[in-house]
Amino acid sequence: MSRFFDPKLSALTPYTPGEQPKDRLLLKLNTNESPFPPSPLAQRYAREEAGRLELYSDPCCTALVKKGAEVFGVEEDEIIFTNGSDEVLDFTFQAFCPKGAIFPDITYGFYKVFAALHQIPFTEVPLKEDFTIDLQDYLGTSGTVFIANPNAPTGLYLTPAQVETIVSSDPDRLVVIDEAYIDFGGETSIPLTKKYDNLLVIGTFSKSRSMAGARLGFAIGNKALIRCLNTIKYSFNPYNVDRMAMAAGVGALEDKDYFRTNCEKIMATRAWTTEALEKLGFTVLPSLTNFVFAKHDRIPGKTLCAKLREQGILVRHFDTPRLTDYLRITIGSQEQMEAFAGAITNILEG
Ligand SMILES: *Cc1c(COP(=O)(O)O)cnc(C)c1O
Repeated sequence: MSRFFDPKLSALTPYTPGEQPKDRLLLKLNTNESPFPPSPLAQRYAREEAGRLELYSDPCCTALVKKGAEVFGVEEDEIIFTNGSDEVLDFTFQAFCPKGAIFPDITYGFYKVFAALHQIPFTEVPLKEDFTIDLQDYLGTSGTVFIANPNAPTGLYLTPAQVETIVSSDPDRLVVIDEAYIDFGGETSIPLTKKYDNLLVIGTFSKSRSMAGARLGFAIGNKALIRCLNTIKYSFNPYNVDRMAMAAGVGALEDKDYFRTNCEKIMATRAWTTEALEKLGFTVLPSLTNFVFAKHDRIPGKTLCAKLREQGILVRHFDTPRLTDYLRITIGSQEQMEAFAGAITNILEG
């Protein structure tokens, strides 16, 4: 560390992204990207926009906000687009946590990093033994609630009615629902934002819309909340969504068939993968995401992860006490998952 680094930042433990390898890779099942390319329409709009990159992007994201409002069924002043959903999560920590933050102990690893970066005190609430969330834990507590729904890396899900239980329990406390994986079989809580001004729903184009590399995310909530997020955005980077990402985003929202077909393919392959893994001696948590969280009855997660790696297959292993037995395996294409199951079979026989 440089001696010029602010001592209050020197203790930060930054987020560890999944590996993005450059060589000898057969299968990348470690960061929950889509195995499918972005919609052809999204690609075309992005290409057309490339010739206008000499101009700044539209800070209001007008075209995208209009299309997003229509697709998600909200008003144009109830949605904000950002540079990935990580950015709007960061804004949310900055804007809305004067009384601290509270989230499950097992969840998206970035929450804790944002909290630390902005020096926000946070409470981690242990999940139950079966990795489910106990709603009671969030009733009568203070601090802004952050819940990934479905949760990562478990894949488990709360219904909108369960979300509503937390939201309605205290109208003076904000609840943030991160729906990065909602399109793979869950029901969105977006409609609840009409009824409750203390609910913010966050989404991303990185998973179900195959645009992780474009960095596009959004938040939906009461217009007063969105106005505050815009205050942070305009105090930081008004051009946070670039021209090509914005254009591609409009294309991705217009191409509803492509989106729906891909989500259905992932769900079908998830069912196939779950069954294949169970036959091979794995316990697989029921997932409503584009990954499964699974442990083998004999072989530790770390060993399996290393053996897969030797074969050029990447999955995610979390080396913490409650998660160490498990692997988080992204659902790729059907062909990829058949290759993956073949590799696992070889490892178990070898
Ligand atoms: C992938 C993921 C994100 C980040 O998405 P980006 O839009 O790529 O920044 C946020 N939350 C959860 C739970 C995720 O899994």
